[in-house]
Amino acid sequence: MIKKSGMPLLEVKNLKKYFPVEKGFWRKTVGYVKAVDKVNLYINEGETLGVVGESGCGKTTLGRCILRAIEPTEGSILFRLNGDMIDITKLDRESLRATRRYTQMIFQDPYSSLDSRMTVLDIVGEPLLVNNLATGRKMEERVKDLVKVVGLNVKHLKRYPHAFSGGQRQRIGIARALASNPKFIVADEPVSALDVSVQAQTLNLLQDLQVEFKLTYLFISHDLSVIEHISDRVAIMYVGKVVELAKTEEFFLNPLHPYSEALLSALPKPDPRLRMKRIILSGEVANPVNPPSGCYFHPRCKYAEEICKKEEPGWKEVNPDHFVACHFAKELSLKGVI
Ligand code: SF4
Repeated sequence: MIKKSGMPLLEVKNLKKYFPVEKGFWRKTVGYVKAVDKVNLYINEGETLGVVGESGCGKTTLGRCILRAIEPTEGSILFRLNGDMIDITKLDRESLRATRRYTQMIFQDPYSSLDSRMTVLDIVGEPLLVNNLATGRKMEERVKDLVKVVGLNVKHLKRYPHAFSGGQRQRIGIARALASNPKFIVADEPVSALDVSVQAQTLNLLQDLQVEFKLTYLFISHDLSVIEHISDRVAIMYVGKVVELAKTEEFFLNPLHPYSEALLSALPKPDPRLRMKRIILSGEVANPVNPPSGCYFHPRCKYAEEICKKEEPGWKEVNPDHFVACHFAKELSLKGVI
């Protein structure tokens, strides 16, 4: 499933992450939480793929599996390195360690993701030491450069995280992620814990850094407004599955999955004339341990028909670079936003 133009940096094929559910004294496996279920996607070099979905839909697990911070159950993760596509799932410990410097993560909570006993110099310098990229004076100079790049004061290198605001702490986290010269960054809700006033600054910083360092992002968020601002393409997740994948503009104008239509109807719009009638989804989000038959979305979908209860919809490219998993994607005329 490679994009027709452009070069994919990362390609995920049939990725699954199932967590066993254990019961009893002998911890017998009685089922699985299907946190990520048969996910297929690609990310081109230099682009941002936004991943959206409700809490618990598997977006963070997907990001962690792609970095192999947790082991996937099945599937392949192809990553372009020195011109070759290597399968990250097949790497041994040593090769994975060598690859890690090219793939980094920015965490959601700038308070818990920084060690309160380490100074800024230690935090940002750690990836340089771990990856044998710089030590001593050279490391300090590199940390100073990174701190300047993210808009912090180099005089504060010896300060501890508690001396900074939430936005500044997130900048320290971003500097740490940049230290090893990565190509690919998973940003897991990087602005959701920040005050609204600093969210836009942080998003703009991430965009500037992307251009300056030729970065590729997987950007995870539950907020479609943030995704619209930063993403080139959007992937919508529902109960462990990607149900729609499209270019951002195409997705907002012309969604093809009923779940996407419901998410878009909840987007706030400043002009009341452009407001859509909000679609209130009935029922609960499906249980990933025991999901419904057929299409997981069918108990909540107002367009569901008999086939939706029986057959899981296939993953199809309905328009160029616009993929969806819905039996009626071609027939339905769904509302997007202007
Ligand atoms: Fe709705 Fe059926 Fe499409 Fe699922 S396959 S989203 S239930 S119309």
